[in-house]
Amino acid sequence: MSLVLPLRLLLLGAPGSGKGTQTSRLLKRFSNLHSLSSGDILRAQIAAKSEVGNKAAEFIKNGKLVPDSTMVELINTELELRGWLNEASSWILDGFPRTRTQAEALRKVLIPRKATVNMVVELDVDQNVILERIEARWVHVPSGRVYNLDYNPPKVPFKDDITGEPLTKRSDDTAEVFQKRLDQYNLELGPLKEFYRDLGVLHRVSGNTSDTIYPKLERLILEKDKKNDI
Ligand code: ATP
Ligand code: MG
Repeated sequence: MSLVLPLRLLLLGAPGSGKGTQTSRLLKRFSNLHSLSSGDILRAQIAAKSEVGNKAAEFIKNGKLVPDSTMVELINTELELRGWLNEASSWILDGFPRTRTQAEALRKVLIPRKATVNMVVELDVDQNVILERIEARWVHVPSGRVYNLDYNPPKVPFKDDITGEPLTKRSDDTAEVFQKRLDQYNLELGPLKEFYRDLGVLHRVSGNTSDTIYPKLERLILEKDKKNDI
């Protein structure tokens, strides 16, 4: 089905909380939605060995955030290129904005186009659970498809379901780097949530598996759509 009203949704959630998984389920459900993942864009830049990619790789390797100015430019360019900067487009952003500065920059680029982010959902997953399952995560880098050997295994072991290409481990999915990413997320989350709470668009769904979170997320979106509230 498709949504009646344009939905511009941000998913906030700790690394490994399943933003990518929720996004692909929403894309399957709602035909007029598109998505963009900042992590996927960065990994594509790294694979292409572009200047931005080489710079970003250093930060990512150390579990640090890529500087705001780099991210804002990268994502704005991408949004512009895809023709999403208008009041009619529906999209999900996964992983951007990640800081309050990025959130302010996104708002600034949308306002002249008469668009706003109309829904922000925090995926609240127990961080001990996350730490355990990150070890079982494998990805198909060209598409950003994510698999979990326990919960969501590929049909053929270590191969992408659609292309049959090999899956790989992300180099930043190690226990040490992962803890840094988690700490960094917790640091930025407060100010980011405050920004969107003040704008009246912040929601939260809790659960420890993607299967328990997804129905809540979908219900939230359908209710808003029905109420013409977005
Ligand atoms: P997950 O993909 O499990 O949700 P994550 O959110 O930590 O975890 P990605 O979104 O794939 O991972 O991002 C990987 C890395 O890319 C981050 O650790 C960070 O270094 C960098 N990055 C991604 N998005 C941003 C952003 N908006 N601002 C700054 N750095 C970013
Ligand atoms: Mg991700």
